[in-house]
Parts: sequence; C-alpha cells; structure tokens
Amino acid sequence: MSNDIKTQLVVVGAGPGGYSAAFRAADLGLEVTLVEARSTLGGVCLNVGCIPSKALLHVAKVIDDARDMASHGVSFGEPKIDLDKIRSWKDKVVGQLTNGLGGMAKMRKVKVVNGFGKFTGANTLQVGDTKITFEHAIIAAGSEPVALPFIPKDDDRVIDSTGALELKDIPGEMLVLGGGIIGLEMGTVYRALGSKVSVVEFADQLVPAADADLVKAYTKYNSKNFNIMLSTKVTAVEAKKDGLYVTFEGKNAPEKAVRYDKILVAVGRKPNGNLLDATKAGVEVDERGFINVDKQLRTNVKHIHAIGDVIGQPMLAHKAVHEGHVAAEVIAGMKHYFDPRCIPSVAYTDPEMAWTGITEKEAKEQGLKVETATFPWAASGRAIASARTEGFTKLIFDKETHRILGGAIVGINAGEMLGEICLAVEMGADAEDIALTIHAHPTLNESIGLAAEIYEGSITDLP
Ligand code: FAD
Repeated sequence: MSNDIKTQLVVVGAGPGGYSAAFRAADLGLEVTLVEARSTLGGVCLNVGCIPSKALLHVAKVIDDARDMASHGVSFGEPKIDLDKIRSWKDKVVGQLTNGLGGMAKMRKVKVVNGFGKFTGANTLQVGDTKITFEHAIIAAGSEPVALPFIPKDDDRVIDSTGALELKDIPGEMLVLGGGIIGLEMGTVYRALGSKVSVVEFADQLVPAADADLVKAYTKYNSKNFNIMLSTKVTAVEAKKDGLYVTFEGKNAPEKAVRYDKILVAVGRKPNGNLLDATKAGVEVDERGFINVDKQLRTNVKHIHAIGDVIGQPMLAHKAVHEGHVAAEVIAGMKHYFDPRCIPSVAYTDPEMAWTGITEKEAKEQGLKVETATFPWAASGRAIASARTEGFTKLIFDKETHRILGGAIVGINAGEMLGEICLAVEMGADAEDIALTIHAHPTLNESIGLAAEIYEGSITDLP
C-alpha cells in the first residue's frame, strides 16, 4: 500500500516557527502535514535550545543566590551536585513540552510525518518512502551550530551547545569560544556548577549585537566570575592526552598555549536552507543557506513560504513563532504582513541583558536624532533590597517627538521587564505615556516609569 500523502499545506521542520505555522493553519481550516526529522516536535528551541538551557540556568541561579546569601546572614554550605538528577530534571522539562506539542498537533488533526524531507519538484516533497504532494509549503528548517575547521572533530572534549546541554561532566577548566548569548548562558551554568570558565571573543565587547552600555555593566559584574579575553581569537587547538592546548592571538592573548579540559564552540549558527533540495522546487537559497522572503514570508516561488532561523537574523524563537502565524494566515487568504517595530533580544545570563527596538549605535548609524534617559538601579529600592544594584534601565526616545524607539535593561529579571518596553514601542508611546503610567512599588519595573519621568523632567534628583 502506498504511503503517499496529498495535502493542502506541508510544513518542513517542527521548531517554534514550523509548529506555530502548522497549528495556526489548521485552526484556519487548512489540511496540514508537518514533517520533522527529530523524533519529537519543538525543534532546536524545545529540544536543545531555549528550554533545556533555561532549566539549567535555573539551577545555576539557585546555586548563585544561595552562595550570595552568605553575606546577608544565611549560609547553606556548598551545594552537592548530582548531575544525573539535574540531567533527568532538565529532560523531564523538555519532555513535558515536546509531548504537549504532540497532543496539540493531534487535537488539530495535523498529520505528523517523521523523517528528513527533500523537495523533488515545485509541488512534491519526499520523506523516506513517502511522497508528499502539496499545494502550499512552509520551509521552517531552522539552523545548526557553526563548527570551526581548525578545531579537532570527533573529540568529545570539544562540544557545541547541544553537547553542553547534555551535561556529561563538569570540566575543571573550560574555554567558551565565542562570547555571544549562547556561549555566555552555557558558561554561566558550568561556572555555577564548579568549572573555571574562560571566554574568548574576537570582537572588542561580549555579545557584539547588544547595547554597549549593557555589556559594560555585565562585564564589570562578571570580571570575578570569568576570565574574559576580548579582541582575541583562537588560532590552533592541539588535542593531547592530558587536555586541549589552545593557542590564542590578539590583544589579550596569553603568550603560551593554555590547557583546557573542554572547549565549548559557540561561534554562531548557520541556516539549514541548503540541506533540503529547495532549489528543485525553484526556491533560491543563498550560498550561506539563507532563503530570501518578502514581508508575507513568501519565497521567490509564490506558493512556498519560509520562516524562522532559515530566513535570517535575529535567530530567535519568538521571531519564528510570529513569522509562522503570518505565513499560515497569508496562505489561508488573509492580507497579513510581518512588520514588527521591534523584536526583543534577551541574554539570560547573570545579570540578564535585554534590549529591543533601536540601539544608540544603530540610531547614530542611521542618522536619527535620539535622546536617552537612564535610571540606575543603585537608586531602586527593590534592587537594593535584593542586593543586586549593578543594573540600569535605559530608554531611547526620538528627540523631536519624544516617542520611544527602543530600550535596554541590564540586571536581574531584565528579560521579564522588557515586555513593557516592547509594548510601548509597538504602540508608539511617548515618554509622557510611560511616565504617567503608575508602576507598582517597589518593583524593578518601576525603573522604566522612572527613566521616563527623568526624561520628562518630573524627577530631577535620585536618592
Ligand atoms: P528550529 O527550532 O531550528 O527547528 C527546525 C526543525 O526543522 C528542527 O527540528 C530540524 O530537525 C527540522 N528540519 C530541518 N530540516 C528538515 C528537513 N529537511 N526535514 C524535516 N525536518 C527538518 N531563542 C530564543 O528566542 N530564546 C532563547 O532563550 C534561546 N535560547 C537558545 C539556546 C540555545 C542553546 C540555542 C542553540 C538556541 C537558542 N535560541 C533561543 C534560538 C532558537 O532555538 C531558534 O531561534 C529557534 O529554535 C528557531 O526556530 P525555527 O522554527 O526557525 O527552527
């Protein structure tokens, strides 16, 4: 009997972009087939990305908070780390969410096909023995970690983010190669669990895409936690029995090769656009693997859309989800566009760094006239009472209209706080709107209202 499937919409890849698109399309009445190479739904984000990393960061936070409390009169002693238990708790969190998605697909009668899909024509996709004939397709194939050619492969002492999340052991000396969000988040976990962590970054600041002031505050707070080597690159790695010997070059390079027990390579992610024979359907894929789309997420082939990491930066789950919704709605005949004013970015490090909308640097590059207002958390009652005053909240306003264009926060819970700024930017709020909004006291969120009040001139001095 033939396994062949005829479907109105096939979605290739079941990450945040793919499952969101499939579910929205099914809710809008389309007959949907969702193709996924992994055995579970959820893509990188749920299986080996956002969710397992946050479960481990929660562990790190509890350990760090317990240690910090010693100076405020409560001592817990050194934590006893049971790696097997931590790992199985993290896996349980992942399983709960990926199984939940399986149930949601079933409820909507979305047909899930397991296997790696490859286009064979403009309306056909082959998955193993199954030929899928479709009217519309959404490519949501995501991305994978970039590997470096001069770093030994097949050595289990060299890991990427997926390997780091497996948490096989706690290395004594660990090098994080790449000071971006993923490297710093995983470095935070391993440091809290007991590794001595060094971070090497080619650029002159960590998280090069972030607001420079945020990164300055983060770096200052963490100078005691990590050995940070900026403006420096790794030029060679020699694998020896007793460790990995790393040679550096640049401003902060150690003179001699340094020995590490493990290296986490976190130098970015590359799109999977080149792996699925999209060109056989006529879809143009650039040399890096990205697929170009218009504002309705359509590729150069009218009935084939693409969403998520595979269409470009920022490679973030919430961007993929919103794109997935728009693509499904467009296919269902709605006149929708993907045109957000801002896409938030958060590094769930300690302290967290969160920013949205335009940064000061981007405003300068674009010749925009902007003004900023900053509220230092050293003046926040809640931050003082939490013994975490290193943070600040910065708002960026259009100089003429006082309309908010962006914002940046560094400090504990910055990621949770950022939503208010995103809403303000999307709604076109001005400084007065934010200043007149009554924020609960004492909260860290209050700092957003207070920054706007400083800008409006209704606050002239700080305690
Ligand atoms: P993906 O999630 O990459 O899913 C694509 C899926 O398609 C995969 O499951 C793959 O198996 C499947 N696939 C690919 N090709 C085929 C094919 N031909 N046939 C069948 N299946 C195929 N983002 C955030 O917003 N917040 C975070 O906190 C965050 N933390 C992260 C932490 C880590 C360690 C990592 C690695 C990433 C993190 N990200 C985070 C990024 C986030 O995971 C991605 O942006 C998001 O998963 C992209 O979603 P997507 O739908 O485009 O693709």
